[in-house]
Amino acid sequence: KIEDNIRNFSIIAHIDHGKSTLADRLIELTKTVAEKDMQNQLLDDMDLERERGITIKAHAIRLLYERNGEQYILNMIDTPGHVDFSYEVSRSLAACEGAILVVDATQGIQAQTLSNLYLAIENDLTIIPVLNKVDLPSANPDHVAQLVGDLLGYDPDKIPRISAKTGINIPEVLDRIVDEIPAPKGDASAKLQALIFDSMYDTYRGVINDIRIMNGTLRPGMEIQLMASGATYTVTEVGTFTMKRNPRKELTAGMVGYVLANVKTISDVKIGDTITDANDPAENPLPGYKDIQPMIYSGIYPIDPEDYKNLREALEKLKLNDSALQWEPETSDALGFGFRTGFLGLLHMEIVQERLDREFNVNIITTVPNVEYHVYLTGGEMIKVSSPSRLPDASRYERIEEPYVKAQIFTPKEYVGGLMKLCEEKRGEFENMEYIDETKVILKYDLPLAEIMFDFYDKLKSISRGYGGLDYAPNGYRANNLVKLDILLNGDPVDAFSVIIHRDKSASYANAICVRLKDLIPRQQFDVAIQGAIGGKIISRSTVKAVRKDVLAKCYGGDITRKRKLLEKQKEGKKRMKSIGTVEVPQKAFLAVLSLS
Ligand code: GDP
Ligand code: MG
Repeated sequence: KIEDNIRNFSIIAHIDHGKSTLADRLIELTKTVAEKDMQNQLLDDMDLERERGITIKAHAIRLLYERNGEQYILNMIDTPGHVDFSYEVSRSLAACEGAILVVDATQGIQAQTLSNLYLAIENDLTIIPVLNKVDLPSANPDHVAQLVGDLLGYDPDKIPRISAKTGINIPEVLDRIVDEIPAPKGDASAKLQALIFDSMYDTYRGVINDIRIMNGTLRPGMEIQLMASGATYTVTEVGTFTMKRNPRKELTAGMVGYVLANVKTISDVKIGDTITDANDPAENPLPGYKDIQPMIYSGIYPIDPEDYKNLREALEKLKLNDSALQWEPETSDALGFGFRTGFLGLLHMEIVQERLDREFNVNIITTVPNVEYHVYLTGGEMIKVSSPSRLPDASRYERIEEPYVKAQIFTPKEYVGGLMKLCEEKRGEFENMEYIDETKVILKYDLPLAEIMFDFYDKLKSISRGYGGLDYAPNGYRANNLVKLDILLNGDPVDAFSVIIHRDKSASYANAICVRLKDLIPRQQFDVAIQGAIGGKIISRSTVKAVRKDVLAKCYGGDITRKRKLLEKQKEGKKRMKSIGTVEVPQKAFLAVLSLS
């Protein structure tokens, strides 16, 4: 049977431990891509991924591997490692039977080594550990092998010691994949069940769904149904991936590939949904994915109100292959029509922002991100508030609860003191400390999500000289003394600047933002007063002094092109400004707070 020679696997690892480099070597060794087309981190084909050197999206590719005259099909799915993107990892894992767990032999087990490993265990995958970077003098493969072996119940001597960079022992990894990962089970003649694990939008061809066939067979011409939305389409093409899409006659149980069906209605498609045969439907869909809850929210507004429709379309298309992205329309007095958007974390927010800008060419303003609060009204009813401007008047609610996370901080033990101090500044509650080995510990804290959202990770990294790691999971809600802080420009509150904050931190925050905005808001024809206020009471203040600015005055007549250039430059500057009442506020002021806490 064809599926006996298929292996579907993912590569999982802590960030920078070498997943993408290992993927490159496997692609090379199986001659999947012609040598002349080979470049580093081949699967990271989004511009953003190349620039930042990180993997954002999961990528799938089919490798052909021949051993003892037998040909194997290895479907490899590369996954991202950053804590913000673990949902991408769990998505890809559902399409696999096995996972290669890459551990950097110079670093050992790190935060996302464990969290990805747990995801793989949850998905019942066969796990093959490998130790990478053994070419480096600082590698300590025997020691790390012992730890990894203990963790997995795997014989430490049998863990391959590899270098994804120089190619040491990569063939052994291919052999392990073939020998240890089970072939997919499934029945090609059963009713069709295909799991959608990713999708993207192509202007010409509509939605392209990446699928794993669990049961049944899929061919062009078949009428399919997307089980969650009920929508039906006729299949125009199926195929597999080898960097490009290769059309095939059919896909059968166990195979990974794609399906095209002229799907132009993006909302019909949901990642994690099951495709079935419309004329002979499966009784039940496959177990879907957990809906992912965003951790932080921010307002996204077009700088040019004309762009509202474009922004909406761009968000719809992004959502298609970024199912963690959630949004709904909202209006702001200051910024007009826009969207309240939910993200998994700050990095995710930055990526979405940049993708909107680059791939969709929409200029946007994003407001200060915040978490979602549970507000208990005096009547007893609870409402969820993800936008500070929606917080009811203080007289209308009894208490505000904020989300907490259980955080695990991985660190060499010498940085424990500094990291504990950081956690306390962030209102953390110590839970316990465990030793991973004689030099490394895990610190466990309960922390308000709002406190770790901004610069916590950066601070953790700098305190631990880059060696610390962080992993966290939601851990309920707790009531705290939270207040809404408004920022007023010339007496008018600017809703887009409002934040919900702990009372103990409100005064220093209000001061800092008044100082910061004073630098960011350019001088205008009149004084601009910047004030911080809680419930109408002013707690901080700064002023931007008026100036009469005539750009042409500098030109002393004469050179007309120089004059025109200056005027154009001023117009450019204006475009990145937003008028709030009579005050011109630059785009970056809305995110000024990020560098404050
Ligand atoms: P990923 O984040 O897990 O995908 O990691 P990458 O594959 O992007 O690798 C992170 C960094 O480690 C890159 O600079 C690689 O060149 C480097 N790297 C990966 N594997 C090895 C290895 O075996 N030896 C050495 N010396 N460097 C490696
Ligand atoms: Mg990578």
